[in-house]
Amino acid sequence: MEHGEGVERKIKRFKNGDVYEGGWRNGLPEGYGRYVWTDGSTYEGQWKGGTKHGNGGYVWPSGAQYTGEWSNGCMQGYGMFKAADGSRYQGGWANDLKHGLGKKFYSNGDKYDGLWKHGKPDGPGRYVWADGNEYNGEWKNGRMHGHGTFQWKTGERYDGEWKDGREDGLGTFQWKDNSTYDGLWQMGKKHGIGLFRPSHSESRRSLSPVVPSANNSDGSESQLESSTGDDLSEGPLTAPAVARKGVGGQVADHGMTMLASESIFLREYEHGRLAYEAPVSLEDRSDMELLFAVLRLEEPGRLKKLLLKAGEKDKGPGEIIYKEHRSYNIMVNLQLGIQYSVGKINTVRLHDGLTEHHFFEKVKLTFPRRGSKQTPPHMSNDFKWKDYAPMIFRKLRENFGIDPADYLMSLCGNKALRELPSPGKSGALFYLSHDNRFIIKTMKKTEMKHLFVMLRKYYTHMDQHKHSLITKFYGLHRVTPYKGSKIRFVVMGNLFRTDLPIHMRYDLKGSTHGRFTREDVDKRSSMTLKDLDLEYTLKLEEGWHERLHRQLTQDCKLLRSMTVMDYSLLLGVHFRKTGVREMTPSASEVESEIEMEKQLERFRQQIFRMRLDERHSQELLKLVEMKMESRKTKRNAPQQVLARQPMRNDTLRPVAYSDGGTDALAFFLNYDHVQLGKNMAATAVQHDAKGNVADSAEDVVVYFGIIDILQEYNIIKRLEHRFKSIAHDGKTISAVDPNSYAERFMRFMRRVFQ
Ligand code: ATP
Repeated sequence: MEHGEGVERKIKRFKNGDVYEGGWRNGLPEGYGRYVWTDGSTYEGQWKGGTKHGNGGYVWPSGAQYTGEWSNGCMQGYGMFKAADGSRYQGGWANDLKHGLGKKFYSNGDKYDGLWKHGKPDGPGRYVWADGNEYNGEWKNGRMHGHGTFQWKTGERYDGEWKDGREDGLGTFQWKDNSTYDGLWQMGKKHGIGLFRPSHSESRRSLSPVVPSANNSDGSESQLESSTGDDLSEGPLTAPAVARKGVGGQVADHGMTMLASESIFLREYEHGRLAYEAPVSLEDRSDMELLFAVLRLEEPGRLKKLLLKAGEKDKGPGEIIYKEHRSYNIMVNLQLGIQYSVGKINTVRLHDGLTEHHFFEKVKLTFPRRGSKQTPPHMSNDFKWKDYAPMIFRKLRENFGIDPADYLMSLCGNKALRELPSPGKSGALFYLSHDNRFIIKTMKKTEMKHLFVMLRKYYTHMDQHKHSLITKFYGLHRVTPYKGSKIRFVVMGNLFRTDLPIHMRYDLKGSTHGRFTREDVDKRSSMTLKDLDLEYTLKLEEGWHERLHRQLTQDCKLLRSMTVMDYSLLLGVHFRKTGVREMTPSASEVESEIEMEKQLERFRQQIFRMRLDERHSQELLKLVEMKMESRKTKRNAPQQVLARQPMRNDTLRPVAYSDGGTDALAFFLNYDHVQLGKNMAATAVQHDAKGNVADSAEDVVVYFGIIDILQEYNIIKRLEHRFKSIAHDGKTISAVDPNSYAERFMRFMRRVFQ
């Protein structure tokens, strides 16, 4: 292991019995080393100035273990923790506490997946109890708090507001038989006015007279045992014993006392005790439908689902490859080939793991139109298929977390690929999978050869650096159509796979010569812009900024060793304010806004017709208004998530783990965990051509990665450099040697990402 400059290797035995073996500088551990404490604890990993810093693993005498990132001696960044009791956590950390997006598997079988703050669930999250109950919603300080849905495994559910772990505010309870109670709650009990709607089948069953009951089983008890909060508030070393359960069985009876056919009841509760009940008299069918509508004014699902839906509008760049399309045959060949390879490769067992031979393996096969023993019949012409290092790519896909079935569904499912208008200079063709997940790019023979030769280096790097910014490659193939020329393809990940619209795209190399687009193009168009067009500095959250530059250094080290150059950092920027403006309000939303106002008026009139006493009709009206309001808020939720600006510190940097920051975005956009280059909250600070900072700072979400990494520095590139340097300053043109290229690239990125 390397230790860097001025670092020697040392075994140091301390007086108290501790032993350290590893890099040492100025009397302190530095670089890579292993420290064993007398109590049996060990740390093995990176050090800086005597503190754990970088990546490392710590084992406690109890057997508990942490593997992940450290900063100044603290668990900070992304890491996995296994407690002695068998519980596991993987996700974000800050100051030795769970913080950010993370998943915890408790030793009793419970699971929590969501946001954490200072060691406790906080923000949106989903908790699933081992016995099958689950809560999906907002948390605060380790308790259910905000808006959320509790679903009992016995079939009941509560949708609504929570406070300190209990139902509190406006909420709807639904029984197994679909009867619902819509009303106000306090400290886990019904308290205030509400509407009870028996299920259709129930309402036919009984017609007994109204007997307001003082001890109805539906109102007397909270549906949840209250939380002490302690169970979830543990630090990284103490194992929690979460044992809070919903008591679904006790709530199955809704205390229905009178059921006229399709009636609705106005009820009033005092701390869970039913104090008043009256059937609501409905004069005609439309009145009844109206009132049913108010009972259904519930949100259609999780906020993130809404967000995904909202993004759908923006989906689908490029041209769908339909049957008569010039690329149709090629697409079919490619899909057949991939389907065959992935299917076949998955059945092979790797007894001895990967070997050297797998890196050089090539598999050839012919796909006749009429089919063969190994291949299915197909509608395209005969073609030949060649697969490069299939086992290596299978392992890469596995390491990148791609499920083989998902991979096939995306690329070879019923939906066609889309051909993108050729985006690069090279004339390469680009295809996009229907779900925007994968990009297939045609490549030159030289590029293909280079990737194949460098595959071992690439594989090792991607294995060691889970947050690498380098393009993820998922497969390397060649198709030779009947009487046609060979076409080589690489399958890679789409960096802009997101439901948020990308407003600006930049292809950044760090060279200035010729690196701007023409003056006349609309800079906010979908065109990919270049280095000199970039008018922003991007401020990332504390921690992420350091991680990015550390990773860029590592990635450039690989690219240098692969003797490549001309690669770019592809950057996509989503402006949060613009995005919100785009998303609201659409014409139909404005219409439904007016519709809601009208509906409210109809409700008012209807409540008046119900001839309730003054107090109850006032309260019912208030309840209906609250429901309408909460419906409006929920409809606007996706925009609120985006518009919720992360807090900024005095240098304009977004504050890490703040509401609306990178973690919260990752959760709402349905990512497993926060990743470098994906969904990152940033502040775009505008500057002029001379680099002077203007006043304006905008909240953005950024996506980026290193693409086009297969251009080898060969004799032609050398000549190109020589030729161009006669006319221009040699340092500003893009064809420089790989070392200078990498240096210049990193220097530029340090200016862009601050
Ligand atoms: P050039 O020769 O101009 O550098 P090229 O034909 O070799 O281009 P790339 O540089 O690989 O192609 O990509 C061209 C464009 O395609 C990029 O600017 C980007 O807009 C899009 N693109 C390429 N790879 C990806 C990716 N992994 N995710 C998203 N977009 C991509």
